Amino acid sequence: MNRELTVVDVRLTPVLVADPPLLNAQGVHQPYTPRLIVEVVTAGGATGLGETYGDTDYLELARPLAEQLVGRSVTDVNALFGLGLDVDEERVRGALDAGGLRGVRSADKLRLSVLSAFEVACLDAQGRALGLPVHALLGGRVRDAVEYSAYLFYKWGAHPDGVPYEPDDWGAALDPAGIVAQARLFAERYGFSSFKLKGGVFPPEQEVAAVHALAEAFPGQPLRLDPNGAWSVPTSLKVAAELADVLEYLEDPTLGTPAMAEVAAGCGVPLATNMCVTTFGEIREAFLRDAVQVVLSDHHYWGGLRNTRHLAAICAAFGVGVSMHSNTHLGISLAAMTQVAATVPNLHHACDSHYPWQSEDVLTERIEFRDGRVAVSERPGLGVELDRDELARLHRRWTEDDGRLRERDDAAAMRVAEPGWRTPVMPRW
Ligand SMILES: [Mg+2]
Repeated sequence: MNRELTVVDVRLTPVLVADPPLLNAQGVHQPYTPRLIVEVVTAGGATGLGETYGDTDYLELARPLAEQLVGRSVTDVNALFGLGLDVDEERVRGALDAGGLRGVRSADKLRLSVLSAFEVACLDAQGRALGLPVHALLGGRVRDAVEYSAYLFYKWGAHPDGVPYEPDDWGAALDPAGIVAQARLFAERYGFSSFKLKGGVFPPEQEVAAVHALAEAFPGQPLRLDPNGAWSVPTSLKVAAELADVLEYLEDPTLGTPAMAEVAAGCGVPLATNMCVTTFGEIREAFLRDAVQVVLSDHHYWGGLRNTRHLAAICAAFGVGVSMHSNTHLGISLAAMTQVAATVPNLHHACDSHYPWQSEDVLTERIEFRDGRVAVSERPGLGVELDRDELARLHRRWTEDDGRLRERDDAAAMRVAEPGWRTPVMPRW
């Protein structure tokens, strides 16, 4: 073994990152969201970076994993996935991730969500040590830049009174005109030319009107709508019929593979998902029933960049499209998404990213979108550098929090404004 590549230290830094009041089917984003930054340090002095969810369950798994990694090689990535990680199956079974926005929670998905940050950090460290970009370690890029979509949200102008928060400069968007104005800002600021609206917030007819307004404002440009499973099968079919001429795809209109299969059979719009196919075990039923036509991968919960490529290969074999899902994330994850997306030949849809919504980052330089694309870095590893002062500042915020914001809970955030709010029973409409 090359001793230079031996892990001598792993640093875990939970942070709280400012997040605008973005609305979804479960509630609203909290003013700060938890993320975990992983640093893997080698004997040769390379430090690899990774990022994942920062809620307590993830942190508790990351700590023993960090201990087990010391003394191993950063090239030993397959073995990483065989390390023992105790998860209380009873506690996680049946619970939903982030209020249900990422499908059914399982012990495996929790494990993979933590392992993925370590996998990315090991690949970054390898790349830095060898002087190669991560995409080269995955077989090399097939494109120079990765296209992203503008991720539109219904949102308030500010978080509710009493919540300390620096106001964002996006303004409110609560109707079709507001959504179109937001889309124009995305196009102006970043050059995005495909648009995704997060739905499931208002009754479907209002969201249909918003998509029609977008189609009028951006004729012929790809549009998507994602209500996170808030609709019944009949509602999904009705919306699909009304938007058939303007949608690139409809994302998770309804919950579960059987219901998605029913919608897919009855409408001409392709269905995409990051909720009913979120693990390898869920692929078989969904593909055999033709329930989904596009799978939105997410390297965090699929278990890293190599698993993302495995998923893409399976999708290719079944003629199913592939693109990428996003939760609130920072630049380390955007760099990782871009490196792996650059290597996937059958990625034919713009990827999702929350990054433009994040005014804060832990990098020395923000990653730029030009013409809606992120250029694939040729620098070693992920090609990004940690800003230690910013990391320390965001970690201090996490340390000083009384524990309320350390768990992402969109329903709890909604109750600050609407005390009677309960997570809606799905399908809501
Ligand atoms: Mg989605």
